[in-house]
Amino acid sequence: MKEPTLGNPQNTIAVLQKYNFSFQKKFGQNFLIDTHVLDKIIRSAEITKDDMVLEIGPGIGTMTQYLACAAGKVVAVEIDKALIPILEDTLDGYENVRIINDDVLKLDIAKLAEEENGGRSIKVVANLPYYITTPIIMGLFENHVPLKSITVMVQKEVADRMQVGPGTKDYGALSLAVQYYAKPYIVANVPPNCFMPRPKVGSAVIRLERYENPPVEVTDEKLMFRIIRASFNQRRKTLANGLKNSAELDFSKEEIEQAIGALGKGASVRGEALALEEFAALSNLLADK
Ligand code: SAM
Repeated sequence: MKEPTLGNPQNTIAVLQKYNFSFQKKFGQNFLIDTHVLDKIIRSAEITKDDMVLEIGPGIGTMTQYLACAAGKVVAVEIDKALIPILEDTLDGYENVRIINDDVLKLDIAKLAEEENGGRSIKVVANLPYYITTPIIMGLFENHVPLKSITVMVQKEVADRMQVGPGTKDYGALSLAVQYYAKPYIVANVPPNCFMPRPKVGSAVIRLERYENPPVEVTDEKLMFRIIRASFNQRRKTLANGLKNSAELDFSKEEIEQAIGALGKGASVRGEALALEEFAALSNLLADK
């Protein structure tokens, strides 16, 4: 296997110039130009030759080269067709890489894992396009893609939201959804000068280790997530009002107040004060109504 040739500003500029490539803002294109950050991502993803890695948005193939050296197989999905001839060039000689030119949000990734990895769990590693971070991550979890872990570069603020617990301003539906499926761990903060062009926001690498079984027992998952959404849709309202006003839920005022009381919470409690276990308990109480 060839040693990676990309990951520094000079070589990235050389590739961009050779192909007269123009960055597409609408695709969230900020390419990594720092080998230390790349090494850190690969190390924290704990990739072995037994692993199949799905890379979302390979760009010019910088991280793909590193992944190809560490993994058994890499499948990389890139939406921008202008990048495909570039990837064919930069990944020439990396025999274990397959490039798919598609929108990752439209692809059946569970089926891809079945075809490419015999249904065994895969690892997702990526410097994500920030404009679709949440749908990508929630799509992987909700569509039951067989996953070991997700190690991704995201906007710093979004990494914080995934990791925090109740009582902080960043806590919300994303925190609860991620923490229901996986154990989050922020691996590194990454400043804008590690990318070309530089993003306007700070970035962080977060690793989400998929739970084999969720950390809480829920009789109706869909109901719990409807309750979570309703609680945070109207953040400034009490939990009881949030649930009463939700178009997605159909419980009477009495049922809601009784369930919140049974949790041991007062009438004025807000959704943002409840931990995942409490949302699970509330949902189990309401599922019985
Ligand atoms: N991995 C490269 C790197 O680190 O240098 C590029 C990362 S860049 C932040 C995000 C990449 O995702 C871009 O190459 C972009 O074209 C691609 N992308 C954006 N939207 C996508 C989508 N819906 N499906 C697949 N790839 C997408």
